Amino acid sequence: MSKIIDGKKISEEIKDELKIEIAKLKNKPSLAVIIVGNNPASQIYVQNKKNACEKIGIKSFSYELDEKIEEKEMLKLINELNEDKKINGILVQLPLPKHIDEKNIIEAINPKKDVDGFHPLNIGKMILREETLLPCTPSGIIELLKKSKINIEGKHAVILGRSNIVGKPVAELLLNENATISICHSKTENLNEITRQADILIVSIGKAQFIKKEMIKKDVVIIDVGINRMENKKIYGDVDFDDCFEKSSLITPVPGGVGPMTIAMLMKNTLKAYYIQNKI
Ligand code: NAP
Repeated sequence: MSKIIDGKKISEEIKDELKIEIAKLKNKPSLAVIIVGNNPASQIYVQNKKNACEKIGIKSFSYELDEKIEEKEMLKLINELNEDKKINGILVQLPLPKHIDEKNIIEAINPKKDVDGFHPLNIGKMILREETLLPCTPSGIIELLKKSKINIEGKHAVILGRSNIVGKPVAELLLNENATISICHSKTENLNEITRQADILIVSIGKAQFIKKEMIKKDVVIIDVGINRMENKKIYGDVDFDDCFEKSSLITPVPGGVGPMTIAMLMKNTLKAYYIQNKI
């Protein structure tokens, strides 16, 4: 068995299943994608998301807004999309320009159309283990572990990073799967001692090749969330893949690991939002 968790392949399988499901629907689910300004990385992410929609039969509508747009104009657009029955999901590509408060934007999205799973109501429901739209990267990580037949229950999962979009929600989802959780951050003392206890190590800190083999125990399962674009245009994860490969039992590559799963989960959420709104 390969030691590499092939996120690209797993995400394609998920999208193929969604495509079959969507083909059976009379009316197709739809996603509004909002991007502000021309950040090159954001443009790539948005294009990938639109391509995925097209591939599986979700209608996508693009809103490319000027860098200088005022927050109230953006809120007006979101309100219109909230009211628009033709739109099932609303995605706002982050980060936004500094003069726009991301919190106000996220909270303005109708929670039933919040396909990123960032709205406080959806986060609250996730914590209470109620059925809801879950954040895409964390749910993609759980899906990767499950499809790779990794036993999560009772295992010690160590998470590096406590962001609202990855670290904290993935900890919550792993807890729901009955793992024992440690969350580490920039103030954590004796970090190596904690990472060396991990059966499952999730790294989301945005520091290229930070995790070395001295920091892991033998046969750990490593999920690398980091996307670090270097000056030479190459993309590195937060884990030194070559250094840790031998010692780990399974490891995700970057690119081709968590990234494609985030998009597959966005597609899954858009279909789920469609079902919620149509009470199916
Ligand atoms: P973030 O907002 O960039 O925050 C970084 C987190 O890492 C913070 O919690 C910080 O601790 C912690 N940290 C920084 N240095 C550390 C260190 N030396 N030891 C332990 N913890 C440390 O986090 P994020 O949004 O989750 O992004 C992290 C990376 O994941 C980025 O490269 C991003 O591009 C990538 N990402 C990828 C996907 C995907 O789909 N693959 C999705 C989202 C993000 P403090 O809280 O103490 O500051």
